[in-house]
Amino acid sequence: MSRNGSLEVICGSMFSGKSEELIRRVRRAIIAKLKVQVFKPIIDNRFGIEHVVSHNNVKITALPVDHPYDIFDCLEDGVQVVAIDEVQFFSKEIIQVCDALADKGIRVIAAGLDLDFRGEPFGPMPDLLAKAEIVDKLRAICVVCGQDACRSQRIINGKAADYNSPLILVGDSKEGYEARCRACFELPNKSGSCLSAEELPLCFFGAEQ
Ligand code: ADP
Ligand code: ZN
Repeated sequence: MSRNGSLEVICGSMFSGKSEELIRRVRRAIIAKLKVQVFKPIIDNRFGIEHVVSHNNVKITALPVDHPYDIFDCLEDGVQVVAIDEVQFFSKEIIQVCDALADKGIRVIAAGLDLDFRGEPFGPMPDLLAKAEIVDKLRAICVVCGQDACRSQRIINGKAADYNSPLILVGDSKEGYEARCRACFELPNKSGSCLSAEELPLCFFGAEQ
């Protein structure tokens, strides 16, 4: 096993600067004359050279792939750095792929949403975060109160999306996302036994009560 390989994960909510940070690291690697390849998941059915574009319009070229194993097939000889954007959209095999690349001596930089619109861990992210040598959790600005934001609020037709809203909207519905903090995040109709902060049992470890 090579000594140089590692996995770095950049996570956070939408607008937290994940793509910007991934692009920054890729540019620095290119300045260092390292051989870099950038991948992203195919969101539609086209296959060809595309870009990673941040919300403030900084961009780099990226190769869209469908299955995580396609990254092995597309890997060029002598690659030293592999960057993967929107990594949360890949199937779980991406965990094994990132691990294998890092074991081969490649520096892997993966950026993705840690939480989905329900505030739940997103796909392969928990495993990637656990396996990474370096984790950066970025925060956006809450559009409601101006504090640091850690959640991606889904908005459908101008309102906070329902817990049970469909994954893909059809018809005329307009969907968008906002960065919000924990307090301003809304999720109407979340089911299950969700205890309020006052209802949570308190445990005092090591203290006489
Ligand atoms: P991500 O990949 O995490 O969605 P990007 O790197 O694409 O984020 O975009 C980050 C940029 O988005 C910021 O530098 C800023 O210019 C812009 N931006 C827009 N809305 C917000 C917000 N609510 N909080 C922080 N940055 C924002
Ligand atoms: Zn807020």
